[in-house]
Amino acid sequence: MTESLAASIATLQDMIQDARIVAGFTGAGISTESGIPDFRSPNSPWLRNKPIPFELFLQSPKARREAWRRKFTMDDLYRDAHPSKGHLGFASLVASGRMPAIITQNIDGLHQRAGLTEEQVIELHGNGTYARCLDCGRRHELDWVRYHFERSGDPPECIACGGVLKSATISFGQAMPEEPMRRAQRLTAGCDLFLVVGSSLVVYPAAAFPAFAKENGAHLVIVNREPTPLDEAADLVIHAEIGTVFSKFIA
Ligand code: NAD
Ligand code: ZN
Repeated sequence: MTESLAASIATLQDMIQDARIVAGFTGAGISTESGIPDFRSPNSPWLRNKPIPFELFLQSPKARREAWRRKFTMDDLYRDAHPSKGHLGFASLVASGRMPAIITQNIDGLHQRAGLTEEQVIELHGNGTYARCLDCGRRHELDWVRYHFERSGDPPECIACGGVLKSATISFGQAMPEEPMRRAQRLTAGCDLFLVVGSSLVVYPAAAFPAFAKENGAHLVIVNREPTPLDEAADLVIHAEIGTVFSKFIA
């Protein structure tokens, strides 16, 4: 590790010590060390196919079949993903009592797998580890959906109301989930340190939270391999591998 990286990590440790309330904010970059590729880095598997917009999913059974086919193909590739040093470091920060929750754009459930509760993870883009009915909201497990999909070639209907089931993620064109958005706003407004890790900060409205925290008087720290549009506004920017930085935070 270079001297300047060690100094930046020490500065981050001091800033966390001095803060009363730290808001964590994570993107796909925190899961690359778990083996799940991020969205925008070269050769992204997520950009190989044109995303299926929400409207099309609703209207077209063919699009729904294609969405489920892709979903299960991806799930098989990343089935063995385990929490990274980044996830474990964040779990330790939450356990220390200074970080009430983490706002995440990720849908992989790895913050929870690292030990955080549902309340401690605010999921802005939903969760891809289960499905929900778009009509009544009832949760369905993926194993069950997959069993029916593979047997009949069609996803099953909701067992409660017959409605359309979808992976519990937020698709392009789908409304942001209200309760997580409210919780993220409250946490952002109430923190005095906002810590961004592994996000390109180009996906809105998620990327508005760090900017709002800064305008509201909080310190802003960004840990990312590459520059982001908010680097200039930040109080501390660490361009490094997340695992290198966060191994210092694992209790
Ligand atoms: P992004 O792919 O746009 O940006 C990730 C950033 O992390 C990049 O700037 C990259 O340089 C950096 N990065 C990657 N690995 C790193 C590492 N080991 N150390 C340091 N930096 C690293 O991701 P985003 O900003 O979260 O936006 C992508 C969208 O795609 C989100 O909406 C998210 O919901 C979705 N997505 C989620 C997952 C997941 O759940 N794991 C995976 C892919 C995409
Ligand atoms: Zn239903």
